[in-house]
Amino acid sequence: MNISTDNAKALLAAMPRKELAFLPTPLYRLDKLSDELGINLYIKRDDFTGSNLYGGNKTRKLEFLMGRALETGCEYVFTYGATQSNHAMQTAWAAAKSGLKPVLYLAAVVTPDMNDLKANLLLDKILGAEVHVVDLLEGEDFAAAEHRSFDMGAEHIKRLEADGHKCMDIPMGGANEYGSLGYINAMVELTEQMQAGSLHFDYLYHSTGSGGTLAGIAAGRKLLGLDFEIHSITAMEVGESYAKATAALANKSLGLLGPGQIAFAPEDFAVEEADFVIDQNHYAPGYEMPSEGGTEAIRMLAREEGIFVDPVYSGKALAGLIADARSGRIPKDSNVLFLHTGGSTAFFAEKEIIGTGLF
Ligand SMILES: *Cc1c(COP(=O)(O)O)cnc(C)c1O
Repeated sequence: MNISTDNAKALLAAMPRKELAFLPTPLYRLDKLSDELGINLYIKRDDFTGSNLYGGNKTRKLEFLMGRALETGCEYVFTYGATQSNHAMQTAWAAAKSGLKPVLYLAAVVTPDMNDLKANLLLDKILGAEVHVVDLLEGEDFAAAEHRSFDMGAEHIKRLEADGHKCMDIPMGGANEYGSLGYINAMVELTEQMQAGSLHFDYLYHSTGSGGTLAGIAAGRKLLGLDFEIHSITAMEVGESYAKATAALANKSLGLLGPGQIAFAPEDFAVEEADFVIDQNHYAPGYEMPSEGGTEAIRMLAREEGIFVDPVYSGKALAGLIADARSGRIPKDSNVLFLHTGGSTAFFAEKEIIGTGLF
């Protein structure tokens, strides 16, 4: 079962949205890499969503997150991530464009030099965000520091709301049901591009972190009756409940659609764990730590196609795609879509994130 792109658009049109992104993003074939890998490889350039060079997948989510913030009368938006978070930077950007005040609580995987700000942290400051760097305590790991940053943000929101200021608390990665609407919308856009170009994809490869993008992709795929396998390469270790939690998020997002619109029952399109392939084989040695495969993928795409993928997310996802094409897990002549989720500002971040293998 599926609904038409027109009906999907009608459902999405009823959701509060602040238009921020340049859409549709380009979709085209990578001829040289296709030849080299023996597959039909296409790329969708979601690194081009922004009104500057630094867009990415979060910008699509932020259209619906900012729509919600404006609809509910917020004055501040809070969010979280690592100090070089693409999501935090795009949130600061989206908030600025929406007339909202961004507050960021950023956990430091790599301790930044506050007198020599780099990449996204520098952009956050230029954009006027209120930035709180949360350094790791003695013996504390990144996940624990992140949780501490959520608590600090919640406390801060409590203080502001006590003074009558309304705040929206956006989770890491923009991963809630409003954010994922952005990728349901992206699947409508993709379907139209596939129809216009007479394209059919067997696989969609992409990088996954918070799971918000994946939830939207999976929901949109179900809604529109697309039949590609979604292959998600993690940028970090994720727990056993990841697929389950991501399916739940997808279904929550679908559940927002419908009331008062065309006849539509979200439960007919329920996303299940079986809709996902979660691949944890390419993030090592760790989040924000360069890998050999990622480094090779970055150089290959730059030198053959003139496109940059980043070392933290999209480079490692491309490494997974290349490995699967070489091993035959992706059969010869398959039609494969690589979703470029952005992140190239990482090239201008701290040297620990980039490594030395790129030059
Ligand atoms: C955040 C991010 C991802 C992962 O997206 P999620 O929605 O958090 O899973 C992938 N690539 C880049 C460049 C990102 O910034």
